[in-house]
Amino acid sequence: MLEKVLIANRGEIALRILRACRELGVKTVAVHSTADYSLKHVLLADESVCIGPPPSAASYLNMPAIISAAEVTDSVAIHPGYGFLSENADFAERVENSGFVFVGPKAETIRIMGDKVSAIRMMKLQGVPCVPGSDGPLGEDADENLRIARDIGYPVIIKASGGGGGRGMRVVHSDAALMNAIGVTRSEAQAAFGNDQVYMEKYLERPRHIEFQVLADHHGNVIHLGERDCSMQRRHQKVLEEAPAPGITAQQRRIMGDKCVEACVAVGYRSAGTLEFLYQDEEFYFIEMNTRIQVEHPVTEFVTGIDLVKAQLLIAAGERLPYIQNDVQLRGHAIECRINAEDAKTFMPCPGPVRLWHSPGGPGVRVDSHIYSGYNVPPNYDSLIAKLITHGETRETAIARMRNALTEMVIEGIKTNVPLHQEICNHAAFQKGGTDIHYLERRLGLK
Ligand code: ADP
Repeated sequence: MLEKVLIANRGEIALRILRACRELGVKTVAVHSTADYSLKHVLLADESVCIGPPPSAASYLNMPAIISAAEVTDSVAIHPGYGFLSENADFAERVENSGFVFVGPKAETIRIMGDKVSAIRMMKLQGVPCVPGSDGPLGEDADENLRIARDIGYPVIIKASGGGGGRGMRVVHSDAALMNAIGVTRSEAQAAFGNDQVYMEKYLERPRHIEFQVLADHHGNVIHLGERDCSMQRRHQKVLEEAPAPGITAQQRRIMGDKCVEACVAVGYRSAGTLEFLYQDEEFYFIEMNTRIQVEHPVTEFVTGIDLVKAQLLIAAGERLPYIQNDVQLRGHAIECRINAEDAKTFMPCPGPVRLWHSPGGPGVRVDSHIYSGYNVPPNYDSLIAKLITHGETRETAIARMRNALTEMVIEGIKTNVPLHQEICNHAAFQKGGTDIHYLERRLGLK
């Protein structure tokens, strides 16, 4: 097994990785910015290294500082978590070239699958269905771009090839708005992702977001762990996720899961990964692959009983997957609410000191959170402060447990979106299951 792992992340996912390392007897190194001295995983890690000032660019995105920290602590591997450098192929390459194990796929795989245009091209080659679109990046020729949009049919969506986190996307309804939308998305993409490549897709009007989890080792073994439904979104960002996806049949799961596995075998994938699809009128359309652990991984862990972060570490150590496809049996239903430090109505971030924190509990309740009474939520990072996950034999039980847990959870001192989650859990449409990606914004009066 890997002797010592450096955790190149912060917050709940850093704590999650630390816990997995501990279970495996692996020593841990936390790296943190000067704003993050008091993070729970920093206090719990075997060693910690300060890598820079609060802005992410100077700390959690600072590759030389992270690699130096791995060197001075004699770490063997680096786990990037999600966000930050987790899908940066250059980072993965630098980590490996410096003699460390990158807990994730090979740099070249990240390069192909992390870029949406090349990922779509690759998936098409493997026979995976994709959204009708521009078949490659858009050029500068206005007439050609107009022709592509008309061929696809409005509305279309302009997307940044290097985009992520729901940013770098723009919906266009007419010829008149097209050129400006391409230009603006291009310059935003350049500023946010350092890559101005954009492409065009048909904008699907009422799809659901359904994604498949895969695990692959270095020996060519690949399995899928079923799907998650992440349709409850605001501004293309996930708010609540569940597994399995309501209404998806065992046969649909098998067919799509097998396609994902075949595609991963073909690209020589390794580690944990997610293939994201839009699902409309009983058809799946690939939109992108995430080559890392995802925020919503716990719902899959609940229904499969497989620890995905431990699996990532074992795979990184060169071990064979301890499961074959037939070992993966789905049991019951799981739901995750992303608890953010933000105003439940205006969605404005609300950092500051947590005066009081009481974690909910009981059967089928899991809380992944780094906060504690007295912890100060810094203003510099993502506002996710906790993930509340519930599991039950049925979807109804999982929802009932979620409603209880949301009531039990006490967070004083800062505003959170707990009231929003309570509202969602009370909606008849959510309780029925299978709402589309625009449901929440319609419900909030934003659409
Ligand atoms: P990101 O990498 O930023 O998460 P994705 O490509 O995964 O971007 O898309 C995020 C979300 O944006 C999707 O879950 C969906 O809600 C919306 N979206 C993306 N592409 C389309 C499309 N072609 N039609 C409708 N909605 C889309």
